[in-house]
Amino acid sequence: MGEKTTDLSGLQTKNIEKLIKNRLFFIIIHVLLEIFAMAQSLSDLNDLYGLPKPLNDLNNLHGLSKIPSGSFNGLPISELDLSKFPELRKIGFDCFKKLCSMQELRLPTEINEILSGSFSNCTSLVSLDLSEYPDYEIVSFDCFTKAWSLRELNLGPHVKEINSGAFCECTSLQSLDLSNCTSLENISFDTFKHAHSLREIIFPGNSRIKTINSSSFCSCTSLRKLDLSNCVELDEISFDIFQNAWSLRELILGPNIKEIRSGAFRNCTSLVRLRIPASVQKISSDTFSGCTQLEEVIFEGDTEVDPKAFQNCPGLAKRVFPRKRLPGCRYGKYSEIKSSLRFELGESGATCGISFEEFQEDSDIVVLPCGHAYFEEAFHEWILKRKICPTCRVEL
Ligand SMILES: [Zn+2]
Repeated sequence: MGEKTTDLSGLQTKNIEKLIKNRLFFIIIHVLLEIFAMAQSLSDLNDLYGLPKPLNDLNNLHGLSKIPSGSFNGLPISELDLSKFPELRKIGFDCFKKLCSMQELRLPTEINEILSGSFSNCTSLVSLDLSEYPDYEIVSFDCFTKAWSLRELNLGPHVKEINSGAFCECTSLQSLDLSNCTSLENISFDTFKHAHSLREIIFPGNSRIKTINSSSFCSCTSLRKLDLSNCVELDEISFDIFQNAWSLRELILGPNIKEIRSGAFRNCTSLVRLRIPASVQKISSDTFSGCTQLEEVIFEGDTEVDPKAFQNCPGLAKRVFPRKRLPGCRYGKYSEIKSSLRFELGESGATCGISFEEFQEDSDIVVLPCGHAYFEEAFHEWILKRKICPTCRVEL
């Protein structure tokens, strides 16, 4: 009996082993079949939605709401008209990526989503008008990255976000008119980075932009002028945002910027003059380093400036100081405002009551409400310590 039992248990073990082997065999077969089916369905998709077929077979797109990701990736297509598929709403990832010959593309106006990378490396695409797509709100990541020929781009009033890298390396884009984009709130990281030909960007008159993230205009080496004065909701100039924008000469900051972050204007070697609005509370280290032509920074308020903010700015050594303009005082050149000076002692010439040096016609002076006048720079140093007129001691 004992032997039989042993035999039986041996048999059971063998059976179990066999069973496991069979199961394993079936599982492997099943997985292989699944993989095969998946590959089959993928190749079906490719067949259906365009890959090896000429354009006139795109009729298979009828009734479809989404073009599968990568559908046209790398095809030798020069013209693509998808406007006859009104059911289309969504364009998958990398959909038109590397369509190096495509010059013209028409999409149905019902489109509401174009996923990331869709037009990246479309190196022949010259213009694209997305202004008539009322439901298109987000320009996704890397959407137009390396669209080297793109010269004209129109975005509509419904666009709310331009995501990171969207126009990175669009080296032919010379002008970007966002004046229609009244809903635009966010411009993300690296958005226009290396857009070497970009000369101007026009923001809408009543801009709702809240954030422009770091490196957005980094290495936009042709950008000459940027006017952010309409961006009243913008409260920060981000890291490295204009770094290496070598041609930037004119920059107008928004009226509610609170902080300028490190590296923001690093190596902006054409920047000569800059006005810092009173709203700016802090300028971080390295912000203007390497701005070799910078001569004048005018502070309109009490901004906290990091000691390393102006490294390697050889032209600026003497001129950086926050100038708080006191209400009731007149500021200007001596030649322009000397009529408002009042000399209580009568005989003394036009001299500064702090340094006792004579004013020259082009001296920057300040005339206090009491009529006493001082060199603006000397008075600024004084007022940081005592809020009274140095001569008559009247409170300011
Ligand atoms: Zn006085």
